[in-house]
Amino acid sequence: MSKEVIVSIFYIILSACIIYPPVEFVSAGFTIPCVFSRVLGSEDEDFVSYHIKRVIVTLGVYSVLPLGYIIALFASEYFQDVSSLIIDGSLFWRIFFTTSLALPILALYQIRKWIIDDFKYHPIAINLSKFCNNNNRDWKRVASDISTEFRRIDKICVRTNSLIKVIATENWILKVTPFTILIAHQSDASLIVQKADTHQISLETTNETQYLNIAVKSGRQNVESFIIRINATDFKDLEDRIARDITIPPNVKFHKTVVEQFVDVFKETIKSNPRYENREELDQCIGCMQATPNIKLQKLCGDDSGRSDSCMTCYCKPMWCVNCMAKWFASRQESDQQNTWLSSKCTCPMCRSKFCILDVSFLDNVDVEE
Ligand SMILES: [Zn+2]
Ligand SMILES: [Zn+2]
Ligand SMILES: [Zn+2]
Repeated sequence: MSKEVIVSIFYIILSACIIYPPVEFVSAGFTIPCVFSRVLGSEDEDFVSYHIKRVIVTLGVYSVLPLGYIIALFASEYFQDVSSLIIDGSLFWRIFFTTSLALPILALYQIRKWIIDDFKYHPIAINLSKFCNNNNRDWKRVASDISTEFRRIDKICVRTNSLIKVIATENWILKVTPFTILIAHQSDASLIVQKADTHQISLETTNETQYLNIAVKSGRQNVESFIIRINATDFKDLEDRIARDITIPPNVKFHKTVVEQFVDVFKETIKSNPRYENREELDQCIGCMQATPNIKLQKLCGDDSGRSDSCMTCYCKPMWCVNCMAKWFASRQESDQQNTWLSSKCTCPMCRSKFCILDVSFLDNVDVEE
């Protein structure tokens, strides 16, 4: 392979990694915000100003990437000098060279436009100004409100990928993208789950991750709606942080957490265990204080080895509903070994006698199809 092909491949990969940093680059601190951290300052101290500068730096860096390629080709001696490129080079190279010079100039022109008038025409400032009261155009007040809320520890910060993150503070929902921040104020925003899609994380495990696309629509004029994409496991945190309900339309099959999935498997498995004939008067389930107890622990598994970990007879009367017992069971297992949960043991929450999944019986009056 000739030298310029190697240089080209290397440069294309490098550029791709600068524009869309893979995990390795992120953890090595080789991203635009990390490399320029001194210029940008601290995101925690002044959130809005940090991102205004980050957008400017990002545009600057992107705009010099093609020129960097030309320089790399000079360095690899593919072009001996500028005249060999301009005079002897093909039309492609002449256009590429001109573009690579024009892009930084255009970027500088754009950046100058953003900077004048105290960043008033910067895309982030324009988005912020839509939230100014009484049409006073003082976007900096909104900026300082957001920065103050961002400094608090009760915010939610979810990374969608290496370029996009979603932040929910007490009053704001923010989507940080490479070139702007999309903003909604919680007081007039409506959130609707649009789509839920499931992905297998790796080929070795059967673990699946589900992602939710949530449309954030602002009731304010001129504020564009946007879509945030989060992992289903972050949904609960987001829901708790946001003052408004997140609408989940019935056609969206909402993903369950690992524990909720386990509850389903638990129920399905104990359906085939023998029933327990109950004669006792039953109170409410001790776990949720809502459901009527519908299961009983009784030793049925035939584990008579007498070892310290063998199952024991539980004499407690039915006090738990199946959902609470399944969650209790899950809570007693190693969280990272989900494939062994079902075959593991647990202790009765009341008398602490050991039991396994075979020792959990539905009461005889329970309709398991419900
Ligand atoms: Zn319960
Ligand atoms: Zn017991
Ligand atoms: Zn057992």
